[in-house]
Amino acid sequence: MTSSCSSMASGSTDDSMSFDELKTLLECPVCMEMSSPPIYNCQVGHIICYNCQRRVKKCPVCREEFKGCRNFIAEKLAEKCLRKCKYQEDGCNTRVKVSALQQHEAACEYRPMKCHIGSCGQMVPFMKYFDHLGKFHRIFAAADNTHFWEREMFVYDIKRLVKDGARNPFAMTCYNNNFLQFMQVDDQTVWIWVALCGLEKDAEGFKAKIVIANKAKNLEIQWTGPVHSARKTGSEVYTTGLCLITTGNGLKNYMEQVGRKYVWSMTINISQISDSESKVDTDSDDYYDSDVDELEPYNFPVREDSDEDDDFE
Ligand SMILES: [Zn+2]
Ligand SMILES: [Zn+2]
Ligand SMILES: [Zn+2]
Ligand SMILES: [Zn+2]
Repeated sequence: MTSSCSSMASGSTDDSMSFDELKTLLECPVCMEMSSPPIYNCQVGHIICYNCQRRVKKCPVCREEFKGCRNFIAEKLAEKCLRKCKYQEDGCNTRVKVSALQQHEAACEYRPMKCHIGSCGQMVPFMKYFDHLGKFHRIFAAADNTHFWEREMFVYDIKRLVKDGARNPFAMTCYNNNFLQFMQVDDQTVWIWVALCGLEKDAEGFKAKIVIANKAKNLEIQWTGPVHSARKTGSEVYTTGLCLITTGNGLKNYMEQVGRKYVWSMTINISQISDSESKVDTDSDDYYDSDVDELEPYNFPVREDSDEDDDFE
């Protein structure tokens, strides 16, 4: 959304008439909605919207017949009038001409998103996605006000790591936002990324450092790169290449057998990108090499169901 799209205050300064002025003029006398092209009128000149014109024979105002006359002036006025996006309640303040409304709403950044956790597939109001994760997937933020998080992960059977596919994300709250750490696995590949429960443009204000370590062997891999929007599916993220990508076999190098478990440690460090840094091309090496401030590891609270959710069992 650009600022020019939202200049809809009454008595607006550009060539668009105010919504309220035009809305009254263009109200269909049958459905009381603002008419959109094509707009028709009766023999006398009262307008009616396309849908209602198909259903009524006579003008509800003067009882004259409709004979299929288009009202091009009304249509031009309707075209001038900026319409509210239907996701206004979800946060979109965009106003666009009626001809562009459908296209905008189809791509609106506040449109509902499809939950891609497991086989859920529910369409969820975008700004309520984090609530959905708690309600339907029992995913809750691990901690408040920390952007550094260390997590011990384990599997009982290494072979199942690549067989079991995607895991539920792990959530953390910091910088007044909710973030999710996703890990997706297919036959060969493991990809790990951090997503913001929010807009792509807001996600651009953050970067994430992901470190997988085997402390006993003193081995680690690390990756620093962009935070994605939670709207993106795993394959969309994978296609960008902007995530930690390794293989099931690669990951085994970082695992340590502890009793029956194969354990490795993963840390996530989320930081805000400064204004000057945000202008850096994300393809440049500088972006990925930039160091993230190190903090003391945070010991995230163990949840009741952590045994089931945190491993690959
Ligand atoms: Zn109507
Ligand atoms: Zn009439
Ligand atoms: Zn919108
Ligand atoms: Zn869901």
